[in-house]
Amino acid sequence: MAPAADDDLVALAALRAEVEACTLCELHVTRARAVPGDGDPSSDLMFVGEAPGYHEDQQGRPFVGQAGKLLEQLLASIGLTREQVFIANVLKSRPPNNRDPRPEEIAACQPYLWRQIELIKPKVICTLGNHATKLLTGDPAGITRVHGRPQATVISGHSLYLYPIFHPAAALYTPAMLTTLKEDFLRLPELLTHAAPKDEAPPAHAVPAAPAGAAGDAPEVTRAEAADGPPAKPEQLGLF
Ligand code: URA
Repeated sequence: MAPAADDDLVALAALRAEVEACTLCELHVTRARAVPGDGDPSSDLMFVGEAPGYHEDQQGRPFVGQAGKLLEQLLASIGLTREQVFIANVLKSRPPNNRDPRPEEIAACQPYLWRQIELIKPKVICTLGNHATKLLTGDPAGITRVHGRPQATVISGHSLYLYPIFHPAAALYTPAMLTTLKEDFLRLPELLTHAAPKDEAPPAHAVPAAPAGAAGDAPEVTRAEAADGPPAKPEQLGLF
């Protein structure tokens, strides 16, 4: 991991200020604080969740509630702390009562996320749950179908691996999903050892797909995590 260039750090700080003052959608009326995201701007690993909840809205930091505690435990399982990765969300402002993000809110907020990716240049982005996965893959296939399978992509001119996994908030209440989330998480270190996809695509066996019939096939039930049908056949997915 190369240290972030000074120019990029300055640009990230400016972007943070821009997000904190953002009035591009109506969520600015009801939020307490915007939540730009935080962590190590030089990290190879970035996480993208859905939107701030109550605690995040109060503190202006992502994943500081129950889902955040689980994310920290998952990071510890691969020897990392939250300070060593960068954590952001699709939406930077909390939707009232944690309702699902609306398409116009996602559209208004997307340029912030794309700019964060451009400046942080992560090797791997873990998309947490359906909203982040669908936005970053540009594909309507939901998390139940694609979790645990890395996809090579280019965002803001930067080549990287997307690695969709279940949202920790969904896994908190569904033991089978938690098991799958832990298994998917344990494959991250190996994915991180590979060069950026432009330079070297890992062999298909290097980061094994989730086993067929794994707990991940269970429907998700929490906010914005509606089930998305039966799992697709592997050859239909963006595997490499
Ligand atoms: N859930 C999210 O998607 N993001 C947060 O920051 C917290 C909970």
